[in-house]
Amino acid sequence: MTAWFTPRLIPGIVRRESAASFSHRILPFTSRRRSAIMPAMADAKNEIQSLRDQIDEHDRRYHDFARPIISDREYDRLIDRLKQLETNHPELAAPDSPTQRVGGKPIEGFVHVTHAQPMLSIDNTYNENELREFDGRVARGLEGEPYTYVVDPKIDGVAISLRYEKSLLVFAATRGDGKVGDDVTHTIRTVKPIPLRLRGSDVPDVVEIRGEIYWPRDAFDAYNRKRESAGQPVFANPRNATTGTLKQLDASKVAGRGLSFIAHGFGQVSPVKWKSFSALLGAFKNWGVPIGEIAIAETIDEVIARVTDWDGKRHDLPYETDGMVIKVDSLHHREVLGETSKYPRWCIAYKFAAEQAESKIKRVDFQVGKSGTITPRAVLDPVQLSGTTVSHASLHNFDQVDRLDVRIGDTVIVQKAGEIIPQVVRVVTKDSPGRGERIVPPTKCPVCEGAVGKDEGGVYVRCVNPMCPAQLKERLIHFCGRNQMDIEILGEVVVEKLVDKGWLTSYADIYTLPEQRDELAEMYFEYERENAGEIKKVSVRYGEKRADKLVEGVEKSKRRPLSRVLAALNIRHVGGSSAELLAEHFGTMKKLSEASEEALQEVDGVGPEMAKSVRVFFDSEAGRSTWEALREAGVNMKQPTRASGGDGLLAGKTIVVTGTLERLGRKEIESIIKELGGKTTGSVSKKTDFVVAGDKAGSKLDKANKLSVEVIDETTFLKRIGRD
Ligand SMILES: [Zn+2]
Repeated sequence: MTAWFTPRLIPGIVRRESAASFSHRILPFTSRRRSAIMPAMADAKNEIQSLRDQIDEHDRRYHDFARPIISDREYDRLIDRLKQLETNHPELAAPDSPTQRVGGKPIEGFVHVTHAQPMLSIDNTYNENELREFDGRVARGLEGEPYTYVVDPKIDGVAISLRYEKSLLVFAATRGDGKVGDDVTHTIRTVKPIPLRLRGSDVPDVVEIRGEIYWPRDAFDAYNRKRESAGQPVFANPRNATTGTLKQLDASKVAGRGLSFIAHGFGQVSPVKWKSFSALLGAFKNWGVPIGEIAIAETIDEVIARVTDWDGKRHDLPYETDGMVIKVDSLHHREVLGETSKYPRWCIAYKFAAEQAESKIKRVDFQVGKSGTITPRAVLDPVQLSGTTVSHASLHNFDQVDRLDVRIGDTVIVQKAGEIIPQVVRVVTKDSPGRGERIVPPTKCPVCEGAVGKDEGGVYVRCVNPMCPAQLKERLIHFCGRNQMDIEILGEVVVEKLVDKGWLTSYADIYTLPEQRDELAEMYFEYERENAGEIKKVSVRYGEKRADKLVEGVEKSKRRPLSRVLAALNIRHVGGSSAELLAEHFGTMKKLSEASEEALQEVDGVGPEMAKSVRVFFDSEAGRSTWEALREAGVNMKQPTRASGGDGLLAGKTIVVTGTLERLGRKEIESIIKELGGKTTGSVSKKTDFVVAGDKAGSKLDKANKLSVEVIDETTFLKRIGRD
């Protein structure tokens, strides 16, 4: 019946651009073929509406109650009829139609989305005392005001942010690093419990609903059984499989997997009409968004009772959970409590005790990290642990191996605490006779076969060859990372292949890549498309667009401030913030390279260990040639000064940021301005050079207009600083 029609969805690839334009990314079907049974326009409109309502209702029944009232076949018939009508009346197609869940053509790659408000992680506690301490901090922070908590299970899924504008789902993004995530709108659209349009008249203009995408146990098992009977490998871990599923480029493969969603938070909401989180959750529910089983607790004792209760029944839940989340309910209280640089102060997770399992060590292999550390890893007989199949466990370092007295063939207890890789905690067969071989540190690097050395006083064995491919790959990936030189187009897969081909033997080689642009465009790279259980390799041509982006990215990276270059060099003990301290203090790479240990320690925040490590780098032949090669390649070696006269694009400029921005968070834009040599102030005056105004800018905008201070929008700002 549907053989003739060809729904054509435009692939969901979009440039990094404002949210508003996302809503039009999926265009109506384009087939114009008429069928004899097609009703006239007005009738079609009615029928389409009726079909959409029916299908939505069936979706809801299916997911809320798991009790469909029609057969799959009947359901498919409704969908087919709707598709047919929409095909013939493209003007009646809508982005929130259930037909849009089916999934279109595969997209070409992922686009990054900046969260309007960062998705912070949550601090963890592991026992009752820590919960009481948290409660003490909340009580002090609120200075005697009464407060209540919302308690709900912590679902072990994939955190996602759904942005609705004027009730329509405009995009969905993964958490990413909290500030910038991947756009997964194309796959999220196929997750039926997520409404494409929020129902109700009280939906704010903009609402970001945050929650967890998870694979319900039943659906996961059923999907695995299907794979098994088709002779395909099964997925091991529902959460990893969910991540893999969301990152499918081809959304049509996601539609049948039965992923689900539960809301547990929010990002930007404007206007905000709710005083408490529980009230907002109630609104979510009315709008058709699934919410979890929550409880309100008046006291910490009630919280603890609730947590204990759930610990007992967590295995009966339809999803995996490793703890509970406790949040202050009042939105006003949340504001008062604020957040640390990492965590909100009004929220904490309570982790259930780690689960343990017994297994046997088959052998031990050695892994080499980016700083050359060689770590032992136990290869185990596969064992089930917290819902996942575990076949490797960390042994951390060789001191730990000695302390535990682990030997090959031993039966050991492995444990998984939260997100961490499972670890060996104890040997069961210590006293049994005829135990296996001891585990000794390797005498040469398992990757480059070069010499190894033990850290002075440290516990790590390290490959000391700076040219070691294992280190080189990791180092190059770090160098190109978002917080370093930010050449993201040069991802892991590309770096690895180019190292293997011998194109990249040092950081400076990155700057010769533009010369090899054409050859690169023709190259094919193997990507892994699914990370759980089944690993499928896809060969992708690099292509003209990526090659151009790479050239652009490499060129742009030459202008990064010294602090980023330093962070990129991966000098031991020098992370992002210490790199900034050093760069601000010394101003140029040359001055820094000449600074004595004493001079280095004069910098606030630089201790003897870091000072020594910096000297070791600049005194070594490898270190010196590394930074000099970068300088010769044209990489900037100066830190823009904050005051006037610096190299920064915004040097000496005083800028006011006001209103809600689409792409940059407030902290993000402020740090960009600072990085480029400008400064931000809170009020507009004659000294203000310009104002960056977002949505709902208000009084500052009026003042700027009164004083004839230049006002620009976010896009113009980004263009001006060359980031658009
Ligand atoms: Zn090595």
